[in-house]
Amino acid sequence: MNSSLATVAYIGATILFILSLGGLSNQESSRRGNLFGMIGMTIAVLATVFGPQVNSGGYAWIIGAMVIGGSIGLYLARSVQMTQMPELVAFMHSMVGLAAVLVGFATFVDPTATEGFEGAARTIHALEIYIGIFIGAVTLSGSVIAFGKLSGRIGGNPMLLPGRHLLNLAGLLVVIYFGSVFMGVHTVEEGMMPIIVMTVIALLFGIHMVMAIGGADMPVVVSMLNSYSGWAAAATGFMLNNDLLIVVGALVGSSGAILSYIMCNAMNRSFISVIAGGFGTTSAKPAAAGGAQPAGEVTPISSVETAELLRDAKSVIIVPGYGMAVAQAQHTVFEITKHLRDKGVNVRFGIHPVAGRMPGHMNVLLAEAKVPYDIVFEMDELNDDFPATDVTMVIGANDIVNPSAQDDPTSPIAGMPVLEVWKSKTSIVMKRSMASGYAGVDNPLFYKENNRMLFGDAKKMLDEVLTALRA
Ligand code: NDP
Repeated sequence: MNSSLATVAYIGATILFILSLGGLSNQESSRRGNLFGMIGMTIAVLATVFGPQVNSGGYAWIIGAMVIGGSIGLYLARSVQMTQMPELVAFMHSMVGLAAVLVGFATFVDPTATEGFEGAARTIHALEIYIGIFIGAVTLSGSVIAFGKLSGRIGGNPMLLPGRHLLNLAGLLVVIYFGSVFMGVHTVEEGMMPIIVMTVIALLFGIHMVMAIGGADMPVVVSMLNSYSGWAAAATGFMLNNDLLIVVGALVGSSGAILSYIMCNAMNRSFISVIAGGFGTTSAKPAAAGGAQPAGEVTPISSVETAELLRDAKSVIIVPGYGMAVAQAQHTVFEITKHLRDKGVNVRFGIHPVAGRMPGHMNVLLAEAKVPYDIVFEMDELNDDFPATDVTMVIGANDIVNPSAQDDPTSPIAGMPVLEVWKSKTSIVMKRSMASGYAGVDNPLFYKENNRMLFGDAKKMLDEVLTALRA
């Protein structure tokens, strides 16, 4: 393929990626968006492999790498549980970071990469390598820690070292200093020391940054690392002189940054305070690690009684959370919804922006179960409707329906907007125990007079409710 054909293919792929992002902004067009993305990526890969930058000697390596990488990707995508998706995403971000680091080192030691570069061009190239490896290393180690936190291998509590901001600042100054040294080197040997020191500091910085962020602030970290992975890919594009990678990286980087901003707004937090970390510090109440502190009596309810309440209701709101994903209860939820709607009950879904463990988690599950989009609402669209709602079913959600976010300024989640389910005539919370949610805080909703607790696995309990409804 000659270079002009490759350029045309790259432009086509770029347009498809932009259409893909546009499609993903809406549930109804998201399938089409995915399709555009897949076609765009196929064109991008073909145009790169058969493009002018690859000579025939490289094909064996490329095919070998694609077979190995493709098989691992296929296996992971097929075997991953829906509840493990956030960890998989964090893992993939770490791979983008690792790729940027490896490409950076490879470009640096490759004598042909700088052939013909003199003066300013040489400095710019060195800067690309330095910044590319830095972003890549931060993304790599930050994503590995995020993976650990999301999968529960690392505790959710923030690790707050004394003088942590000063530590970060000192690290940054050292990185800048070695950057200036790196710009002036003439040989690979001279440059190795500054670049290795910077990589180690960047890796430590990534670990430190994500370790300092805890509990309910994790959604922002996930979207932020998504953004970083985009910038790491763009940096790789600069190093490899590949325009498409630069454009695609910038698209991912900026859309991830916009998502982080949206998540921050949804959680009523400033981006800077999330990055600075400190959620759940000593100023906040101690978290109820694993189990809620006793704060009164709860009123249990059976699945048959739940069915009776639903049968008598005129309007029902369903609030799904992470537990629905764990129980894989979305299909039964849909069956119940269909049954109630057939009986003339007004059933709607209330989705909190940080419900589950990744942005859009609940929407994906409900779409998979074929719940109609027009009855799925965002938190802001529905929050005023709870007082006029007969029954609200909270399915495996906890933090996103916690009234202490509004009532208790000392609560670690104080200020986070929540779904005001306690304002409905009756709320029913379905979960297995009194354990707290991801943020590790007790939930006063459980003890409210108009709240009922339906204890058990969400799928099992909903199956029972459905059977009782049909009886
Ligand atoms: P929570 O983690 O607050 O609560 C989930 C609840 O589900 C738990 O209390 C658990 O209680 C219950 N549960 C677990 N398994 C089952 C089951 N099989 N059947 C029934 N219930 C079950 O989830 P929410 O969705 O309310 O809130 C999301 C939290 O995750 C927020 O704190 C958010 O900040 C955080 N987060 C969100 C991310 C995102 O991007 N959306 C990313 C990272 C973190 P029990 O054990 O008693 O059953």
